[in-house]
Amino acid sequence: PAPLTGRAVLVTGGSRGIGAATALRLARDGADVALTYVNRKDAAEDVVRAVEALGRRAVALRADSADAEEAAGVAERAADALGGLDVLVNNAGVGLLGPVEGISVADLDRVLAVNVRGVFLTARAAAARMTEGGRIITVGSCMALRVPGPGGTLYAMSKAALVGLTKALARELGGRGITANIVHPGPIDTDMNPADGPYAEGQAALTALGRFGRAEEVAATVAHLASAAYVTGAEFAVDGGHAA
Ligand code: NDP
Repeated sequence: PAPLTGRAVLVTGGSRGIGAATALRLARDGADVALTYVNRKDAAEDVVRAVEALGRRAVALRADSADAEEAAGVAERAADALGGLDVLVNNAGVGLLGPVEGISVADLDRVLAVNVRGVFLTARAAAARMTEGGRIITVGSCMALRVPGPGGTLYAMSKAALVGLTKALARELGGRGITANIVHPGPIDTDMNPADGPYAEGQAALTALGRFGRAEEVAATVAHLASAAYVTGAEFAVDGGHAA
């Protein structure tokens, strides 16, 4: 039987890339899915249709993770739409690479608002709504484990913050039977980081496997964590050996 049958899932940034692959994978495993997007309504609706084609319920919610109220409110909206909330996948994130001298205060605020503040607010609201068996899975980055060169100051800082959030949430929520874990993708072929982009070859060379990963390969680990009961506060590299 599908391991997530009857479970209600919220995937932030579920319209494209790793989030879209995760929404589809969790639906294939039996879950009903709410997903957020910020600009690409068309892409979000494609994912909704693909989930519905699997016989599961799906809803696309516009919610900008950079907006504190929207980030805090979306867990409740998802729970209302699906009749509860069992699993949160904090996936929405933005990348910004470049020399530390060139990072403006506006860059700093924007990246931290989406990658850290929004994750905190959505996770807190989701946890308030969850019951025993709840799962919070956050998408970090291989850059939280190993920074292989210059230009990653802001992005690596933002993703490393999520490790602290995950471990602390695991401690805070463990007594209620709710787990919190973090998955660190390596270079994954998406719009954010295309496998044929200008920096792709160098990134592939930094992995032990010598290649980019596919969004589905990250989704597989998220799916495992969505049903695992005795795993919490843990970090999982899905990075082709980038951290090895
Ligand atoms: P994409 O850029 O391909 O997709 C980003 C998704 O997040 C889209 O669905 C987008 O919505 C959504 N999103 C972006 N900003 C916001 C926002 N402010 N509020 C709500 N949703 C938002 O990214 P990836 O799939 O590559 O990345 C997903 C996660 O994985 C990110 O957290 C990223 O940092 C992380 N990651 C990615 C790696 C990679 O190599 N690809 C490596 C390591 C980590 P819309 O479609 O509306 O724009």
